[in-house]
Amino acid sequence: MKPAPFTYHDPRSLGEATALLASLDNARALAGGQSLMPMMNFRFAMPDHLIDLNRVDELAYLRVDGETLHIGAMTRQRDIEFSTEVAERCPILHEALAHVGHRQTRNRGTLGGSLCHLDPSAELVNVTALLGGTLHAESKQGTRDIPMSEFAAGYMTSSLEPDELLAGITLPLPSRDDGYAFTEFARRRGDFAIVACSALIGLARDGTVACAKLAISGLGHCPIRLSGVERALRGAKPAAPAFKSAAAEAAKLDATADAYVSSEYRKHLARVLTYRALEQAAARALEKVDA
Ligand SMILES: Cc1cc2nc3c(=O)[nH]c(=O)nc-3n(C[C@H](O)[C@H](O)[C@H](O)COP(=O)(O)OP(=O)(O)OC[C@H]3O[C@@H](n4cnc5c(N)ncnc54)[C@H](O)[C@@H]3O)c2cc1C
Repeated sequence: MKPAPFTYHDPRSLGEATALLASLDNARALAGGQSLMPMMNFRFAMPDHLIDLNRVDELAYLRVDGETLHIGAMTRQRDIEFSTEVAERCPILHEALAHVGHRQTRNRGTLGGSLCHLDPSAELVNVTALLGGTLHAESKQGTRDIPMSEFAAGYMTSSLEPDELLAGITLPLPSRDDGYAFTEFARRRGDFAIVACSALIGLARDGTVACAKLAISGLGHCPIRLSGVERALRGAKPAAPAFKSAAAEAAKLDATADAYVSSEYRKHLARVLTYRALEQAAARALEKVDA
């Protein structure tokens, strides 16, 4: 099928793009087009105006500033994947990216597009939730910061206002000593995950868990941070008993069902993937202590 007719706009600055968005009815931003174009071809999305952000250069950047990673909404997934700064300072993001689609989709797909598309099991949405990122929205009225915990308004629906664009995000960097792991289960490599889990673990001098962060996606419309489990892990020995109880808690979360995957199976995956993520994150944290 072909998309419904639309008018194409080609702004060269963020100001021009937000002015267009404010003045046009039923307008959508076009980033990498990896999700929007199929949706338009299937006529799930029928915008009257398409505002192409691909020539808005100021939206594509990546820089580390102290303990914060700043990434522009139009930064390609492939550029983040190949960034040595990301591999070194935010390896969980680097690891997650390897699961996002295929190299062809990552060549075009952007961080901002993935966050705004808000697929329930999107890897980049998961890691942004894990790290507690902040999203910077831009409109003709000005700038608004949205914590990731408040970004999802519903199923594949962000809390951006119709006249707002996502301009960039900031991610607090994990400690260099943290162990990390991203685990997911998808039917085929490159498919969207059914369930995915990310974990960060920092160890205290006595070898117990000093801090833990866990995010699970694929159970509901947005990733869930397991703050109760994160608290319970603090002070625990990073070993099977603690990981088993954390995994059991993950399996108690509500999980949606659809025509392909039952709620029980998603809960099963949540348990298994949480255990694996914690085990691998702890092993990597221990390697750093031993190094
Ligand atoms: C074969 C295939 C496999 C894939 N597998 C995966 C996978 O395993 N995991 C995964 O996470 N994704 C996967 N994807 C999706 C891919 O990651 C997309 O790149 C991503 O979902 C959307 O990014 P995009 O830049 O292409 O955005 P687009 O498709 O251009 O836009 C997506 C949505 O976001 C909105 N939008 C984009 N940018 C902005 C902005 N700056 N401000 C406001 N709104 C904006 C658009 O209007 C649209 O509604 C796959 C895609 C394909 C084709």
